[in-house]
Amino acid sequence: MSNISAANSANALGKPLHGGVALVTGGSRGIGKAIAKRLAALGAAVGICGRDEEKLMLASRELEAAGAKVLANRADVTKEADIRAFVDATEKRLGAITILVNNAGTGGGGFGAIQEKSEAEWDQVMNTNLKSVFFVSRAVIPGMIRRRGGDIINISSLAGKNTFAGGGIYCASKWGLQGLSGCMAEDLRAHGIRVSVICPGSVATDFTGRGPKDPGKVLTADDVAHAVAMVAAQGPQSFISEVQMRPVAKP
Ligand code: NDP
Repeated sequence: MSNISAANSANALGKPLHGGVALVTGGSRGIGKAIAKRLAALGAAVGICGRDEEKLMLASRELEAAGAKVLANRADVTKEADIRAFVDATEKRLGAITILVNNAGTGGGGFGAIQEKSEAEWDQVMNTNLKSVFFVSRAVIPGMIRRRGGDIINISSLAGKNTFAGGGIYCASKWGLQGLSGCMAEDLRAHGIRVSVICPGSVATDFTGRGPKDPGKVLTADDVAHAVAMVAAQGPQSFISEVQMRPVAKP
């Protein structure tokens, strides 16, 4: 049908992100991998990074087997040089980044009362969960501004809304991310760029959080991917700024 635009055709085929490029930090496993798979299923090419080369390659093969166009690069999100190289490689290979998902994160050794915690533990959690978002966003935003649009989706946590014993460093990183995201949203709105946060409760992954979780009383990585896809595929005039997620069964 010649009068239907390419975008409408892609939408009709269930590929609303066709032609887009999503960069997902920490896309090698857990929530990030589920997000990369979901965005690829909706038509986006995906760039993923992580530090463990083997897991990254496994994820890359999985995505390619599902028909996705993928770039997988070893990059540590706490190192600005790694980030710059990853962003450049993604744009060279896949095209301009239209969706950035700041997902990489860690509980690290961060859980416990703060008087028991070391400076190294503080730095590891804050650099991975918060400073990385500054690095990656700073590398991606200028291109989005030039193109007058984009989506930045930050994977925060209900730990960015609540407090709990032993959560001092992790909660500080996610409360910080909430503040950073809200301010970025206001800075970038006028450029047509939306900055959103997804705040899940406990999710079944390898994440070293607050100890073992009852698998029937947690979210799945796919649940979070679903929320990210919903935000990425929302209408052009809509701005879903925050999604809070809880398992149906109370933990
Ligand atoms: P996982 O530990 O399962 O996966 C973390 C991912 O991030 C991996 O791909 C890991 O790869 C990557 N990563 C960690 N540190 C770095 C780094 N320095 N540089 C590059 N990549 C890194 O965690 P989840 O999937 O569970 O968590 C993803 C996000 O969701 C995090 O931001 C977390 O805080 C948040 N979240 C998680 C919840 C949960 O209960 N699981 C609940 C709420 C929010 P590699 O180790 O190879 O570098």
